[in-house]
Amino acid sequence: MSDAEVQATIKPVEVVNVAGSSSIVLVCEHASKHFPVTLNKLGLAPDALESHAAWDPGAMGVARRLSEVLDAALVAGTVSRLVYDCNRPPEAADAILTKSEVFDVPGNIGLSETEQRARVEAFYVPFKTTLADRIACTQAPVVVTVHSFTPVYHGKTRSVEIGILHDRDSRLADAMLDIASDNTGLTVRRNDPYGPADGVTHTLKQHALPGGYLNVMLEVRNDLIKTAAEQRHMADMIGLWLVNACLNCEAEGVIRWSA
Ligand SMILES: [Zn+2]
Repeated sequence: MSDAEVQATIKPVEVVNVAGSSSIVLVCEHASKHFPVTLNKLGLAPDALESHAAWDPGAMGVARRLSEVLDAALVAGTVSRLVYDCNRPPEAADAILTKSEVFDVPGNIGLSETEQRARVEAFYVPFKTTLADRIACTQAPVVVTVHSFTPVYHGKTRSVEIGILHDRDSRLADAMLDIASDNTGLTVRRNDPYGPADGVTHTLKQHALPGGYLNVMLEVRNDLIKTAAEQRHMADMIGLWLVNACLNCEAEGVIRWSA
């Protein structure tokens, strides 16, 4: 079997809570640290395979709990971001990284155009199509992406604990920041530790901005969501911010809270 054939046998995208009734559509692009078997783990060192370079540790646990309490569908990636980063368009230089922070990615060095195209077709296109379809069949959709980030990056400690990120449309982020600043002792910041200039708002730009849908990208520091209990606690907290922010934005559609 060729690489492309094996890749094709892996379900490239997962939809959790397909029957979810909420107008919120959750997205977790970096949910998985799985590697298709033929890619030989891209030649990565063992520490890299478990690191934030391969996935967003804890993010899927938070996203699953949000899906549950909001009764919202969740569209999630099923392979490592190092195979293909579904939060980047195919033309982005960092869609298939050859180095991530301090980790070399040997299996991504020297890929031919054909090999790059095969990754795009196998992983990015199905992800994009599935998410677009879900949004298209949702009344007054609200697009919310869920990520985590490492507490130490290139040797520098990050003090921000939750980042609320946006691109040109800051309506929902503004409303969440208003609520977060009143309700928590956590360090919550706008467009931190990343922002639009870093290319991280691709999903929002692709799937929310053209339709004028409310949208936000959530980044949680991964040392705060190591355990299932911490993920649940975090999801319950930011889920309430989200629901109240949607109400403050007068979002239409069904937004439930069932915790
Ligand atoms: Zn991420």
